[in-house]
Amino acid sequence: MEGQNGKESAGQEKRLSEAELKTCYQHFDPAAYLQYIYTPPRANFDNKDNIAPWQLGWLHRAFTEGDVKGDILVDIGSGPTLYQVMSGCERFRRVILSDFVEANCRELQNWLQGKSNSLDWTPFFQHVCKLEGRSPDAWSEKAQRLRSVVTDVLPIDVHQPHPLLPEALPPSGADCLISCYCLESASPDLASFNRALGHISSLLRQGGHLLLIGTLEMTFYYAAPELCIPAVRLDEAQLCSSLKNCGFQLLELSIYHLPQDMQKSTDDAKSMFFVKAKKQ
Ligand code: SAM
Repeated sequence: MEGQNGKESAGQEKRLSEAELKTCYQHFDPAAYLQYIYTPPRANFDNKDNIAPWQLGWLHRAFTEGDVKGDILVDIGSGPTLYQVMSGCERFRRVILSDFVEANCRELQNWLQGKSNSLDWTPFFQHVCKLEGRSPDAWSEKAQRLRSVVTDVLPIDVHQPHPLLPEALPPSGADCLISCYCLESASPDLASFNRALGHISSLLRQGGHLLLIGTLEMTFYYAAPELCIPAVRLDEAQLCSSLKNCGFQLLELSIYHLPQDMQKSTDDAKSMFFVKAKKQ
């Protein structure tokens, strides 16, 4: 695959500005993205070592062990995906989804309104039901629960000091933030990643939790057949120091190494991280 945007040819990276990256995102194709990342071999529930059960397992543990609960859960840069809030929707009174790209917000709204969707989320719901000790048949109840607690799908820009609309949250902030594969994909370099982390931190109340999933050492991913998006190449030490410098206490860090048979030409991700942190 050879895209024309952020990457000129394999191994030759072109550094974009934040503004140029935002322009790239206007061509994000929700259906293509879901196909690349959320179907086999990347999402396969028959294989317990697959990345999808790894992510859902960590999210389940994060939301059921300890004190990650409260009134408002905000998902930052939801994209067209729902898996990330399937556990959290049981622990919060309100869930707010958000994304920079209008087409992604529309995709989420379509699902919320029961309209046709680009991906069948049933296997994800069924897996989370199993993690919760329920029958996989309870998946439609869980889907209904999620539909009932999502109160908003909002536009967001993590590069703005106030990423959400002014009245989106109470002045004290959200009780928990979750963000999956967003910050490193939305930031052209480490300084930009750090600023974005600081901006989203302002949405979280003191003592609230941040659950972050992302990629390490990834330099690009495809968000449409011809749309290669560059990402900041992050390592574990940089991630830990960014969190610390932003005032987060790291409570949990897990790294998943992507096996060869799950690597694809649509990105160069080699490993993923899960972080649970507390705002101090
Ligand atoms: N969270 C989804 C997931 O887990 O698959 C989507 C991740 S996708 C790799 C990156 C997401 O970041 C896209 O949905 C994109 O629209 C969003 N994004 C890009 N620039 C952004 C910005 N400036 N502010 C907020 N979100 C942004």
